[in-house]
Amino acid sequence: MRLRFRLLALILGSALILSPAVAQETIKIKVVERYTLAAEQIYHRSPARDNPTHQLTLTLVYFTGSDWPRETMEEAVRNVAEILEQCGLLLRQVELVRVDAPQRYHYLDTPVSRELARTLQLARPTVYFVADTRHQPAFDAEAIGRGNSQTRPELTDSVWVTRATRDVGIALTHELVHVLTDSGEHIERPGNLMRAETAPENTRLTGAQCAQMREVGTKNSLLRGVAN
Ligand SMILES: [Zn+2]
Repeated sequence: MRLRFRLLALILGSALILSPAVAQETIKIKVVERYTLAAEQIYHRSPARDNPTHQLTLTLVYFTGSDWPRETMEEAVRNVAEILEQCGLLLRQVELVRVDAPQRYHYLDTPVSRELARTLQLARPTVYFVADTRHQPAFDAEAIGRGNSQTRPELTDSVWVTRATRDVGIALTHELVHVLTDSGEHIERPGNLMRAETAPENTRLTGAQCAQMREVGTKNSLLRGVAN
């Protein structure tokens, strides 16, 4: 109840400063379901094995009527948890947010996506499972960190995964590492998650990559230390 009220207040607040036509569109964007994954849906076993030092909370967005199966998104989250564990990262909480929005918002398209993110005001990092991208060149998945969001601040610390993405869990983790390190850097080391081409066997991160992720992610308030 409270969340809905907050969203309504947000929409009414936005409507005051937008033209009537835009406001009309904005009102069509609304959160219709929020679902928090239980720890056992993320980890098949205790995540404490590698003594996590940092924790991450993820918000995943998908659209009513989209063809992203919930199971695919949940499986991708399990991959994220498993891969980031090597860096001492614990997936503390994952929330799935289902949004009702006109079709054009189901695509990564900077001006439209900015409006979507501005309306939703969700916790970061935010992962959007979209139908496709309107960007050229068209990447299957895209990460927007601090360094590449100056002209689109609403999209800071977000990841966009299109339905064309293969190995969704690996691709999602790869993009999240871009966001957490605030770097677009790739590395050609065999088996590394941050090779330019994602592949099922590319899941490793070096000690330096892990350290950079923990340091930058914490500095940017995307990671928190785990209290011992
Ligand atoms: Zn990349």
